[in-house]
Amino acid sequence: MATINDNYLKLKAGYLFPEIGRRVNAFAQANPDAKIIRLGIGDVTEPLPEACRTAMIKAVEDMGDRTTFKGYGPEQGYAWLREKIAAHDFQARGAAIEADEIFISDGSKCDNGNILDIFGHDNTIAVTDPVYPVYVDTNVMAGNTGNANDKGEFDGLVYLPVTAENNFTAQIPSQKVDLIYLCFPNNPTGATATKEHLKAWVDYAKANGSIIFFDAAYEAYITDSSLPHSIYEIEGARDCAIEFRSFSKNAGFTGTRCALSVVPKTLTAKAADGSNVELWKLWNRRQSTKFNGVSYIVQRGAEAVYSEEGQAQIKALVSFYLENAKIIREQLTAAGLSVYGGVNAPYVWVKTPHGLSSWEFFDKLLETVNVVGTPGSGFGAAGEGYFRISAFNSRENVEEAMKRITEKFKV
Ligand code: PLP
Repeated sequence: MATINDNYLKLKAGYLFPEIGRRVNAFAQANPDAKIIRLGIGDVTEPLPEACRTAMIKAVEDMGDRTTFKGYGPEQGYAWLREKIAAHDFQARGAAIEADEIFISDGSKCDNGNILDIFGHDNTIAVTDPVYPVYVDTNVMAGNTGNANDKGEFDGLVYLPVTAENNFTAQIPSQKVDLIYLCFPNNPTGATATKEHLKAWVDYAKANGSIIFFDAAYEAYITDSSLPHSIYEIEGARDCAIEFRSFSKNAGFTGTRCALSVVPKTLTAKAADGSNVELWKLWNRRQSTKFNGVSYIVQRGAEAVYSEEGQAQIKALVSFYLENAKIIREQLTAAGLSVYGGVNAPYVWVKTPHGLSSWEFFDKLLETVNVVGTPGSGFGAAGEGYFRISAFNSRENVEEAMKRITEKFKV
């Protein structure tokens, strides 16, 4: 009889979002008149920028003409897109990344999981706690962990707590770890990293032969000009870091799908025979074998992000969500809550009041003001006692939710 990958059975059964859905549905059924506002999910709400839509419509026309029709494209993505990304997102910021070190994909979520294909199973892996759950679950699926304990922590992973006490910046581990996941601006805490903090990680990684997976999905939300957008702005990062980026949150591509990974040609890791192998070659081999590229139409849409109009339109889009975040921060503070993040990030991270657990606070907010957020404990044990509010919503919903909180909700 066929057998399964038993690692899937180690995954936690009651996943966060289904449980939120269950509680919200139960409340809605019991209170059919309640107008529930959902500020829990990290999906965007505003339409695609016009420049992207126009480019995609033109690309559809290209597909309708034999002379401009495109079949399979390069698995790594079209050069015209990779060159614009290299010039605008990296070289213009002093990061020496070349177009052929960039791999276009259909999502950062996929890239974050797929990258494990090119690494061994004996690596020690560190994640922050709380964390974007994909980093943990993909390692569980790949067999890189043991079982989970009562708190949901997997044996074999090194958890680096990030809380208000350490200003939401993980301490560099005293032990040696081989792979480290960093995400800045952070989902879920909204924290950012200074150049000094990233430099400390790069120095650690270089001293220990570690590789940093740097998730910059929210880099467009950085408004503070002193903060780095890419880990490659830090000297030495080309020798120890892989970066992941996405068009999901800067240009609203969550449903359109386009992202990229950067694997510098200078990056190596050890083979079983002790030799150093270029990770770029392995990733290129992996992508060419298991992936057939992002559609031409979508890549043309992503390219338009780099036009003058595209740049202005994505700036407006990001500013819109950041203004939502500002309203959320100000109103929750006025309601007596302690809030973090939401300045250079679309997420506001709230300390639950009166020692309420994350889920107790979730229920209280749902029942008193009919507003839904995400319990911090769902992102990891150290997220207990916190709550995530997303700025991805219409202005009307954000204003209404915050009005209800300041009027009816007393800490
Ligand atoms: N990385 C982080 C930290 C995210 O929060 C998300 C989506 O919410 C992603 C990656 C996924 O991005 P994509 O839509 O490109 O798959």
